[in-house]
Amino acid sequence: RGEGTGYRRVLLKLGGEMFGGGSLGVDPDVVHSVAVQIAAVVRTGVQMAIVIGGGNYFRGAELSQRGMDRDRADYMAMLGTVMNSLALQDFLEKEGVPTRVQSAITMGQVAEPYIPRRAERHLEKGRVVIFGAGTGMPYFSTDTAAAQRALEIGCETVLMAKAVDGVYTADPKTDPNAKMFHEITHREVLEQGLKVADATAFSLCMDNNMPIIVFNLLTEGNIARAVNGERIGTVVST
Ligand code: UDP
Repeated sequence: RGEGTGYRRVLLKLGGEMFGGGSLGVDPDVVHSVAVQIAAVVRTGVQMAIVIGGGNYFRGAELSQRGMDRDRADYMAMLGTVMNSLALQDFLEKEGVPTRVQSAITMGQVAEPYIPRRAERHLEKGRVVIFGAGTGMPYFSTDTAAAQRALEIGCETVLMAKAVDGVYTADPKTDPNAKMFHEITHREVLEQGLKVADATAFSLCMDNNMPIIVFNLLTEGNIARAVNGERIGTVVST
């Protein structure tokens, strides 16, 4: 894929923390503005699947440090991602975008179960598919769900939407000399110990040649730019 050549099918990973607007729960204004950005892109005909994190509710590891059983805490956290999925579904549909939520934990009243071939069919029909409940398994992350779903349903890239511009040599908030990479290989990320996604998610992408584009969601229009193949953020590929 050269510069300017758009993608046909992508997986967008959104962090949960963003959805909370800095506190517990969802901030409807934030979800609305994310939905507007997504709707603009989907209208151009690109097929989009979405995985949302749950950091605005709970993280299993944090709850377990405070005395909860890790497995149960992780399940609670996965349920949080379903709430985020429903919130995004609502705002997307208000923008006129048809959507389906598929949950890795079955709950028929609120979401379809995760059925990969059905998800692909939805995408072909122009529906946005939102994957809730992560992988459905404790000890995993929604980054890993994003990598796995992208591979299984044939997405060309994982778009990692962040609150920073890309992957840096160091934390740009604390190190004024931090430099952003425009392009980097999976191997270089590993060798330099850079943080792009958690290790399980990252190794899945590396082993299966899945490119990851890390970009800033807070810059209006960036989802469209990433989908269109414009050089924004950091492209991690082999
Ligand atoms: N989680 C899990 N298995 C999964 C996905 C998520 O157990 O497959 C739990 C885990 O506790 C995790 C939390 O859900 O910390 C929220 O997901 P994540 O931390 O990936 O959210 P984000 O940081 O993207 O908001």
